[in-house]
Amino acid sequence: MDSATRQQIESRRAALDMSPEEFRSAGHRLVDEIAAFLESIPRRPVVPPVSPRTLRQAMGTDSLPEQGTPAAALLEDAARLLFENSLLSSHPRFWGYINAGPAPIGALADLLASAVNPNTGGWILAPVATEVERQTVRWIAELIEYPQDCGGLLTSGGNMANFVPFLVAKRAKVDWPAYETGLRAGRQLRVYGSSETHTWIHKAADLFGLGTDAVRWIGCDRALRMNTDGLRREIERDRQAGDLPFLVVGQAGSVSTGAVDPLREIARICRERDLWFHVDGAYGAVAAALPASSPHAVPDLAGIAEADSVAVDPHKWLYAPLEAGCALVRDRKLLLQTFSHRPPYYHFDEGDTADERINYFEHGLQNSRGFRALKVWLALRQAGREGYVESMTENIGVAQALYRAAEAHPELEAVTQALSITTLRYVPRDLRSIRESAPVAEYLNKLNTEVLDRLQRGGEAFLTNAVVDGRFLLRACVVNFRSTTADAEAVAAIVARVGREADRDVRPVSGLGP
Ligand SMILES: *Cc1c(COP(=O)(O)O)cnc(C)c1O
Repeated sequence: MDSATRQQIESRRAALDMSPEEFRSAGHRLVDEIAAFLESIPRRPVVPPVSPRTLRQAMGTDSLPEQGTPAAALLEDAARLLFENSLLSSHPRFWGYINAGPAPIGALADLLASAVNPNTGGWILAPVATEVERQTVRWIAELIEYPQDCGGLLTSGGNMANFVPFLVAKRAKVDWPAYETGLRAGRQLRVYGSSETHTWIHKAADLFGLGTDAVRWIGCDRALRMNTDGLRREIERDRQAGDLPFLVVGQAGSVSTGAVDPLREIARICRERDLWFHVDGAYGAVAAALPASSPHAVPDLAGIAEADSVAVDPHKWLYAPLEAGCALVRDRKLLLQTFSHRPPYYHFDEGDTADERINYFEHGLQNSRGFRALKVWLALRQAGREGYVESMTENIGVAQALYRAAEAHPELEAVTQALSITTLRYVPRDLRSIRESAPVAEYLNKLNTEVLDRLQRGGEAFLTNAVVDGRFLLRACVVNFRSTTADAEAVAAIVARVGREADRDVRPVSGLGP
């Protein structure tokens, strides 16, 4: 290398580097802007009036920049773009899907995690981050009263937190070397879940080679809990047909209505028949932390302790910012058996067992991994068990207040209430007594679809929907520690007003009357 090139390299400032002064001043400014934004959220609409077209216009159609731009100006631009054009899940009246209003400490934790940038795939790359993740997993197990010596890891979300146990169950229960031959060499596998099971199970059955026909959908009772007699019958029938039933998925808070399956009964059925029992508690498992003395405690959640595996989503009811899921597997050896494939170029000194070095790439699907655990770990420490129990209790209280407000309103029908999910719909006064008749039932579905669209566009509150017994319902899921009972009452009034307006606009001129 000639000395001119050498000198150029040594005196260079890389395009992406920032001087300490530049980082400090841009960072302080950004934090100030974020603080002002968070404070302003309750006064902003829940959703901005944007469309793909308006956003593409706002962002411009320039091609990839040839030259760079100073970081401070870019951050300011980006902050403005995001603040003005985002759906605000921190808004006290945002109760859509199961999407938490995130804890502010999570935002700061993500900044810190990125600044240090440990790769939690391997212990050697992330010594303290690995230990923080290990402790976070144990604390989540402790919170839901699951054995703390379980295996587990953080994932991107609930889908992944269900996929991991799905794969472990398959590895554990398939009695031929499917890791070599694939599934074609053996019997037809069967998976069981209630008809309320989240769509992750379709993806898993398809992507992991079972085919969606492998899923047996078990019917539910009136409270939308799995019918366990139906489960027994289906397993028996499949066994007699020569298939291999291997996995039952129980719901700890179904995605539509928050229903909790009879988990202890399902655990018994699985034990007796040597099936893997997995609990999808992406949303509701953490409600197992409510003390037995709480009026909101759900005794069936005690069945989680008997499961072979559990999915929990810290980015739902633990209020972590996206993304954070968590898979727990009772027998941690099975996790390694499923996911440990070591190529010759990976050499790790593992230490002795008391001082074991966990390499999380061997516990799940990812290889390189970020430091998701930090935001969850810090939030668990900031709130403590008590803080979480209090926030969950309040969320359930807000959902129940919405139910009561709907019940008391002459134009609203309160339909279901479980955990922090309430469903309701708008029923015009004159149709109330004939709401079961076919043309009215059909119209009410159309009307409530319209009400939901208007609510979501209007920006005053944000709900999503559920379909129960063929009825299209508005659904509020409160995983938001900023919401109050006054918000619940206000939202009931908003739904009624929007319902009235929609009914006036879309009611057919004739044909609904008795
Ligand atoms: C949300 C949810 C999922 C999916 O979780 P993601 O974090 O969205 O991937 C799966 N099951 C249940 C019961 C859920 O509530």
